[in-house]
Amino acid sequence: MSNPLLQNFNTPFSTAPFSKIKPEHFKPAFIEAIKLAKQEIENIVNNPKTPTFKNTIEALEFSGQKLERISSIFFNLNAAETTSEIQKIAQEISPLLSEFSNDITLNKALFNKIKKLYLQKDDLNLSTEQLTLLTKNYKSFVRNGANLNDKDKAELRKIDTELAKLKLQFGENVLAETNAFELHITHKDQLKGLPESVVEAAQITAKQKSKSGWIFTLDYPSYIPFVTYAEDRELRKEMAIAFGAKAFRNNKYDNQNVVLNIVKLRHKRAQLLGYKTHAHFVLEERMAENPDNVNLFLEDLLKKAKPAAESEFKTLSEFAKKDGVKKLEKWDSAYYAEKLKKKLFNIDQEKLKPYFKLENVINGVFTIAHKLYDLQFEEVFNIDKYHNDVKTYKVTDTNNRFIAVLYADFFPREGKRNGAWMTSFKNQWIKDGENSRPHISIVCNFTKPTNTKPSLLTFSEVTTLFHEFGHALHGMLANTTYPSLSGTSVYWDFVELPSQLLENWCYEKEALNLFANHYKTNQLIPTTLIDNIKQSANFLEGMQTLRQLSFGILDMNWHGKNPTNITNVKSFETEAFKNTQLFPDVATNCMSTSFSHIFQGGYSSGYYSYKWAEVLDADAFEFFKEKGIFNKQVAQKFKNEVLSKGGTQKPMELYINFRGKKPTNNALLKRAGLLK
Ligand SMILES: [Zn+2]
Repeated sequence: MSNPLLQNFNTPFSTAPFSKIKPEHFKPAFIEAIKLAKQEIENIVNNPKTPTFKNTIEALEFSGQKLERISSIFFNLNAAETTSEIQKIAQEISPLLSEFSNDITLNKALFNKIKKLYLQKDDLNLSTEQLTLLTKNYKSFVRNGANLNDKDKAELRKIDTELAKLKLQFGENVLAETNAFELHITHKDQLKGLPESVVEAAQITAKQKSKSGWIFTLDYPSYIPFVTYAEDRELRKEMAIAFGAKAFRNNKYDNQNVVLNIVKLRHKRAQLLGYKTHAHFVLEERMAENPDNVNLFLEDLLKKAKPAAESEFKTLSEFAKKDGVKKLEKWDSAYYAEKLKKKLFNIDQEKLKPYFKLENVINGVFTIAHKLYDLQFEEVFNIDKYHNDVKTYKVTDTNNRFIAVLYADFFPREGKRNGAWMTSFKNQWIKDGENSRPHISIVCNFTKPTNTKPSLLTFSEVTTLFHEFGHALHGMLANTTYPSLSGTSVYWDFVELPSQLLENWCYEKEALNLFANHYKTNQLIPTTLIDNIKQSANFLEGMQTLRQLSFGILDMNWHGKNPTNITNVKSFETEAFKNTQLFPDVATNCMSTSFSHIFQGGYSSGYYSYKWAEVLDADAFEFFKEKGIFNKQVAQKFKNEVLSKGGTQKPMELYINFRGKKPTNNALLKRAGLLK
């Protein structure tokens, strides 16, 4: 029987034929597609003609397309509609895929051809996009050591193996330390202040451990509500100190040496590849470009946000004083912040939800996309989908030209990951004069409708939908020649601009008036509620900012300097924190030993990007605010210079083309109420 994954998709818009695909089709399809891709690369390598951009870089770019297509279908399913069968296949094929990508990275003959082209790049008469593609290809080899001699190559592999082990160990230690602690409560009055659902969860945890009463752990879903709501200050203290001491207890799960080894090996690796520090290596492929830019960015924000943070800290301290707290400590922060917020704003999510019926919000976001970018959305029923809940839309422009297919998958179910994300089933590219349009998908986990009630979103779900839809616009409006530079394939600290930018419309009366009608009475959302949402969004923004900055600064300290002489993790950290510290230090606590973002995950020299993205979206939105949030010229500029350009050019250049100038921190500081 033939494998539908290996045939041409004879479907509307060549969409994935989900109804025909069975799990057993995947593995043979992967094997065949890898074979095909290998052959295509062999053909490039064995081409006797002098390498040209077309016969090498472009040929490489358009090789392995079948594999790309099958991969995106498979991994999207594994995220949104998985089964044990799919998971087993994932286990089986991931070694095949990493072997294939290693074969490419280590292919000397291929690298030599690319290098030859790269060295004469200025004489090849390339377009900006082509030059970006050539550089990207060349760098992907070089950053993996392709230019090193055999001895250094071996050294690099050794470091990489070692680093992989250390990162794994770091994570295992944090996990072991997280699990090593539990707060066992047996008296009901110690639960005072905690919401019912949190108490219930703690009871279930206790039952699972065959214990009576309630158990709280250092896992976020247990820890965060506990320190936010528990009235018992001593217990909050116990929890907070246990949380801060993770992997810093001089036991076998201690991460101090792991941290030191990781930063030293990263530094060594960077130097081997010719970079000054690990941060220089990482930031070369970021919008921020280098550590100096990141440090200046963080320092400027710090200087401007600190006075606000200090005054908020004072306010919070005064507020807690009325409750008998003489000195505000770390374990008081979330608790009194929540109390004060309630007192000042008293936002009732249940009162907001009726204004955000899912269907209305979807129509709202579609209307906004129409007003800004001339897009039209038509729900269609002739496209195959992987689950009945999924909705499919044909997206066109006002001249009825086909722009994209949009899938929307809103409700939770077994087999779907938590959270919300945007992804694609097919990239966009231009080949042989044809603009092949993308298939974009947004996946969320919103409250399902019941027989009596429609799906009503919380305000944070509304912003989530706008966020993912902003990414989707980036994908749908893509208009580049090469698929690997298309849509959201941009530098890491630039990718959140379209998504976060669109969130801004959720706070604007002019936008909310388009869709925020009460689902029963059809009444528009009251202005007072909107104002309330806006103000509460900025609550204690100075302190929050300082906290984010402190993590970014710590990260840059670990990775932006030569770490050879660092011997003591805690004192190094204390020094890095000295300008951002509001609360008294706890000697038995250490942040770095459980800072998984930078020591286990992919955020090393990248923590700044959270704030960076906020600065970009605030600065970009300020442009809209100046000219009107539905101003066509500004929107067209954003579409033409950013959304459609993907990663074809340096992000700062794209941004300046849109905005007319570099972004500054001021719009964010103003929006956050930190700048007078
Ligand atoms: Zn995002």
